[in-house]
Amino acid sequence: MATPTADIGLIGLAVMGENLVLNMEDHGFTVAVFNRTTSRVDEFLAGRAKGKKIVGCHSVEELVASLKRPRKIMIMVKAGSAVDAVIDQLAPLLEPGDILIDGGNTHHPDTTRRTRALKEKGLLFIGTGVSGGEEGALRGPSIMPGGNPDAWPHVKPIFQAIAAKVDGNVPCCDWVGPEGAGHFVKMVHNGIEYGDMQLICEAYHLLHALLGFGADALHEVFDRWNRGPLDSYLIEITRDIFGYRDPESGQPMVDLILDTAGQKGTGKWTVISSAELGVPLTLIAEAVYARCLSALKEERVRASGILKGPAVESFSGNVQQFVDDVEMALYASKIISYAQGFALMRAMARESGWTIENGSVALMWRGGCIIRSAFLGKIKEAFDRNPALDNLMLDPYFQGELERSQSGWRRVASVAVSHGIPIPAMSSALAYYDGYRSDRLPTNLLQAQRDYFGAHTYERTDRPRGEFFHTNWTGRG
Ligand code: NAP
Repeated sequence: MATPTADIGLIGLAVMGENLVLNMEDHGFTVAVFNRTTSRVDEFLAGRAKGKKIVGCHSVEELVASLKRPRKIMIMVKAGSAVDAVIDQLAPLLEPGDILIDGGNTHHPDTTRRTRALKEKGLLFIGTGVSGGEEGALRGPSIMPGGNPDAWPHVKPIFQAIAAKVDGNVPCCDWVGPEGAGHFVKMVHNGIEYGDMQLICEAYHLLHALLGFGADALHEVFDRWNRGPLDSYLIEITRDIFGYRDPESGQPMVDLILDTAGQKGTGKWTVISSAELGVPLTLIAEAVYARCLSALKEERVRASGILKGPAVESFSGNVQQFVDDVEMALYASKIISYAQGFALMRAMARESGWTIENGSVALMWRGGCIIRSAFLGKIKEAFDRNPALDNLMLDPYFQGELERSQSGWRRVASVAVSHGIPIPAMSSALAYYDGYRSDRLPTNLLQAQRDYFGAHTYERTDRPRGEFFHTNWTGRG
């Protein structure tokens, strides 16, 4: 048998797999590749992989035989049962100490299950988030690995070489934590991505519907915003989208796109996780539900002819001031979204006994991924100042930023409400901010109601915490 030459194997030559292979090869690694439909291997070798240090394999056995020990195999197939199918094929061919890596969008409990099951067989499993889409996979993604920590020293040189770099040469990849921690962090990343996109859409809705801004004016606004505190990949691509015209009709492409969206699941998982952990994640939840509402297109069209709102009147205030206010509302709401997302990661780490360094996660998200932004550098600084920060809003920098932007944020919320423009993410963010900073909420009444109908008991403000009381509210026996 020929001496194994490949540094790493990769299974699944679809969009992500192919580009990751090319990225690894570009950084000096020899990669063995396999795909269930083997014609894809041949096409890859004859096309993009031609002349490169890429070993094409037509069976998993061939792939395993071509790898240096400990073997490292990255699985880039459709998340779910396909990952189990591939693992079941590979496991009998591997030896203790070999490493399997799932780089798909896997739900984190599956990664925890696989890490434990493979450990029983002496195999080291990593479940890693990979973000940045096709382009990121090729040029430098953000990589969020978790699982069996014994695997990390073997995989680290490859992953940190291919990851995006910030501040010169700092890789957007570091060990996240045990079991499903990597995939959990990727899930929250995707949830935050939902939130960021929804916020941008709300800003667009306000400027378009209220001020009558068309694509050209919007292009200019987003270009300006991208040079301020909102500087980010998503603002940048939004600017470019407004600048793109349909080659056939010459109209702005964005105006021709149907207003219904789908979702693949990571946003929904994030919201479910927040409900299970009891952590408010209102902005991301609103972003998920905004997509659900958008999908009810026919119902909405019917309702638009039936349900009345405020009379449509054009905006009579100062246009430039309002544009600046929308920027503030977007920025402040974004702070809230990240504050909620990081609070969720903190709660999950506590619940699972994982160590997730929030500062390190912020660094991993600074480059390569869809939510990359200058803003994440500020979040990293906040967690460097205080790694045990309860909530990002309490960091002095973000506290100041919220103070600075809140008058514009509140003006936008009231204008939107009075004009009947839905801004679920921006307004729920404001409600969270006001709720979080309230030393007294109306929950005293809620406790009284619960005690009234269900004898759930309550604590009193004039007695020590932990003493519970019940009242016979009706006087009946
Ligand atoms: P994909 O469309 O999710 O999956 C296609 C790949 O899975 C093909 O190689 C296919 O092989 C293989 N596959 C499906 N079922 C299989 C089975 N039962 N056994 C073996 N192989 C099977 O590919 P992708 O878009 O490149 O994504 C890969 C993973 O990365 C997914 O988990 C995805 O969610 C995640 N991800 C994607 C992006 C993105 O921008 N696309 C970004 C981040 C993460 P055949 O050719 O034989 O069908």
